Amino acid sequence: MRFTFLNKDKPLKNALILFIFTLFFCFIGSHLRQPAELSLFWPINALLTAIFVRFSWLHRLRYYLVCYGAMVFNDTLFSGWALPAFTLNGANILFILVAVSMLIQRPGLINASGRVKSALSIFPACLLASAVCASWGAVAQGLLISERFLQAWSDWLSEQFSTGVLLLPFLLTLPRRPSLLSTLRRWQQCLPIVALMLSLGAAVVIGGGGSLSFPVPALIWCAIGYPLWLTSGLTLLTGISEIILVVHGVMDIQGDDRLLPLGDLASARLGVATIAISPLIVAVSMDAIRQLNHQLALRANHDFLTRQLSRSGLYERLHQLEKNGELRARLTGVLLIDIDYFKAINDNYGHDAGDAVLFEVAQRMQQAVGQAGLVCRFGGEEFLVLLFDLDDGQLLEHAETIRQRVMQQKIVLRGSAVTVTVSIGVASGNLETDSVSESFNQLVSAADKQLFISKRNGRNQTTSSLVGESAVTDALA
Ligand code: GH3
Ligand code: MG
Ligand code: MG
Repeated sequence: MRFTFLNKDKPLKNALILFIFTLFFCFIGSHLRQPAELSLFWPINALLTAIFVRFSWLHRLRYYLVCYGAMVFNDTLFSGWALPAFTLNGANILFILVAVSMLIQRPGLINASGRVKSALSIFPACLLASAVCASWGAVAQGLLISERFLQAWSDWLSEQFSTGVLLLPFLLTLPRRPSLLSTLRRWQQCLPIVALMLSLGAAVVIGGGGSLSFPVPALIWCAIGYPLWLTSGLTLLTGISEIILVVHGVMDIQGDDRLLPLGDLASARLGVATIAISPLIVAVSMDAIRQLNHQLALRANHDFLTRQLSRSGLYERLHQLEKNGELRARLTGVLLIDIDYFKAINDNYGHDAGDAVLFEVAQRMQQAVGQAGLVCRFGGEEFLVLLFDLDDGQLLEHAETIRQRVMQQKIVLRGSAVTVTVSIGVASGNLETDSVSESFNQLVSAADKQLFISKRNGRNQTTSSLVGESAVTDALA
């Protein structure tokens, strides 16, 4: 819905547009009236709610009064109502006021272009708005102390609620430029709509109480494959069709005059079956979404080449540990490990050989660390090993085990056996629970300083500030 002709700075023009718009749809609504007082569809409340939500600056008393004026004007002019026009239309305004207030007051629910992010919020907003509207409407009809009060109240409620939940999701999710063609490019993509039409046809032919739910599985199929606005639009069309078909006796839910001689029980059974299938369809698609999310998380948290934790995966793991209370008062050791002269490997043996070395070195580190800690590819040819509850001597021992393990066995690259070495910087400390990332980064930069010393002193060695000035060196064989 595009209402670019509504302008924040032109209140008179806005009032005029709202008046004409309200009058037009009230006129249509009045002519859809049943012999009873209530209209078959009274779309203006939902339409105005959608406009007021999309242009939340309209949410002011004067604009509500303009709409109210148009409703009263319509009823006095075309329905011949006098006093009832003033009292009954209060119910319509109450619906809009309550629904708009509930929808625009949830921060983040409506985005900049006035579209709802979670269409489910429309449900409670419509329910409360319809209940308030129904209470005022039934009282305004003078039925407060009559036994017809409950009947009138439920008529108002069901009409307002059904129109609201059918129309509002569509109006509030409709994009600026909806494109059917991009959604229904291949014939297979039209199958949910075909299934919907067939199920509606089956509901007409079979009839009975269960037939109302026949289109539900097809609608869920639509929900899985189509964008929200299209599913809402199809749900709206299905709902309107069912109501019209029931009103005109084409779809006979009483079970007297069916096109097929099926009993009430048969219709109910089929209805129950369609209801039973529906949650299963949702469950299967939710399962697929969960698996996909799991794979995405794995990809984001793991390095594809070395199969070790990625940098973001390491931070994610730290936050997880912190959330579980597993970091509290634990001594945390950080080993920052950088492959020596790695660029020369790339230059002499090619990038693929470089990749193979990264993989092999990561494997050796993982074998050396085992279950005692976490190995992470921190970036490029730099790795980080995280260890807990180790004193300074033990930490240095672990670092040395890793360093020895990497250099012990030569790696064969293009027929040449190459010794690969690493330099290591060690740091340890306690992570502050209120700023885990920050205090962890401090540990990393302390380890980085030690790594720099290892490099400067000739590489293939471990340096730690923890054990005095100790630097364990092992000259390249
Ligand atoms: P130093 O001993 O001082 O650490 O020297 P170096 O050559 O190891 O370090 P430098 O930072 O000069 O070079 C690192 C190289 O690692 C440069 C970059 O192209 C390479 N590299 C980073 N990521 C990858 C990767 O995923 N695969 C391969 N093959 N090379 C990579
Ligand atoms: Mg290096
Ligand atoms: Mg490096």
